[in-house]
This record gives sequence, C-alpha cells and structure tokens, in this order.
Amino acid sequence: MKSLDANRALVLLSGGQDSTTCLYWALSKFPKVHALCFEYGQRHRIELECARKIAERAGVELTMLSLSGLAELGGNALTGDLPVESKPGGDGLPNTFVPGRNIIFLSYAAAYAYQHNIRHLILGVCQTDYSGYPDCRDVTLKAALRSLSLGMEANFELHTPLMFLTKAETIALAKEVGGLEELAYSHTCYNGDRPPCGDCPACQLRAKGFAEAGEQDPLLNIESQK
Ligand SMILES: [Zn+2]
Repeated sequence: MKSLDANRALVLLSGGQDSTTCLYWALSKFPKVHALCFEYGQRHRIELECARKIAERAGVELTMLSLSGLAELGGNALTGDLPVESKPGGDGLPNTFVPGRNIIFLSYAAAYAYQHNIRHLILGVCQTDYSGYPDCRDVTLKAALRSLSLGMEANFELHTPLMFLTKAETIALAKEVGGLEELAYSHTCYNGDRPPCGDCPACQLRAKGFAEAGEQDPLLNIESQK
C-alpha cells in the first residue's frame, strides 16, 4: 500500500462555481493544494480560461490534462454540436450528460495524484440540486474510489464537500471559506455566454441559489471582471 502525503490535496477545477468553491474549501483545510483541469473538447473554451484565472488568483498551480477522446464519443450537448435541451431525453437525462464523465475524471485525478504523492482528491459534485447525472451520486463516486484505491494500492481520500448541499448552502460555504467574490471569475452558462444568458438551466439554477442564499452573484457585476 502506497502511503500518500496527507498534507497534499488535488482539486478538480472546471472553471465553474462548484469547483471554485471546492478550491477555496481545500485551501482552508490543506497546506498544499494543486488544481487539475481537463480539456475534453468542451464546447465552451471559456471554462478553461476561467479555470486558469481562478487558479492564478488563488495562487495555486494548475495542470491542464487533455482528454480529447471524450468529445469523439459524441452525442451530447456539452462536447458535440447538439443544442442544449432543458427537458430530459428518453433516458431521463438532459442531453448535457457526458456518460461516466466523473468516473473518468476521478480515474485520471487519482493517477495524477499517485504520481505526485497527493492523498486528498476533491471533487465539486452534488447529488442534491443537480440535473440527475448518475455519476454525481455519492454511491457512484465511493465505488469508483474503492476501485482506484485497490487498483493503485494507495490510500486516497475523496472529499465531495458539496455532495448533500443545496445551491444556496454551497454559496454560503463559498462565503465561509473566502471564495464568494472569486465566483465572479467562474463560468456556469451552458450557452457559453459571458455575462450569462440567464435562460439556460445552469443559469437558472445559479440564479436560484444566489437568490435563496440572499447574496448577489458577483459574476453579474461586470465591473468585477476587470
Ligand atoms: Zn445560460
């Protein structure tokens, strides 16, 4: 069994508000934090620019890993050229679902962490208030982690601090760990608009969360982008 460094944490940073919150959560808990971002042919490259900016502002080193094969699988609105549908399709899932994406991401993150002697893996997934993606569920990720720990004989620890929080509670957590203002640099809109379109399911969920938390979304303040 490889004993990995308990002081080191790896945050999967997508450039979205949840992973940004997780980055600040990790900075409040662990002495050494590194960020990992996947370039998987996402339709909106603005997410990658956001991840770079957020990591830079946090003073955290960011590694970009290319997973271009995900886009070649096709058939979804995040990597393909399908329009984003807000209603679920025949499989009961929105067409923004990339099958097994979080399991693939976690596998790469664990392999990276193994090579860099990092014990803690931090993933900003949430099963409470999300679009029903089965790879965001706690049970899925715990099973994936068990498989990775066995497969690499390493003592990884997985943290999903947002798993059972509502969007409003996630925003309260961002505030608590000093990341609320940094959400100005995060990207959420499925249509890739900046400032956000306000109409897509992701924008609506974000707006609802801020409204329920009683906070202003700093992203909506264009001045804060400078
Ligand atoms: Zn939008």
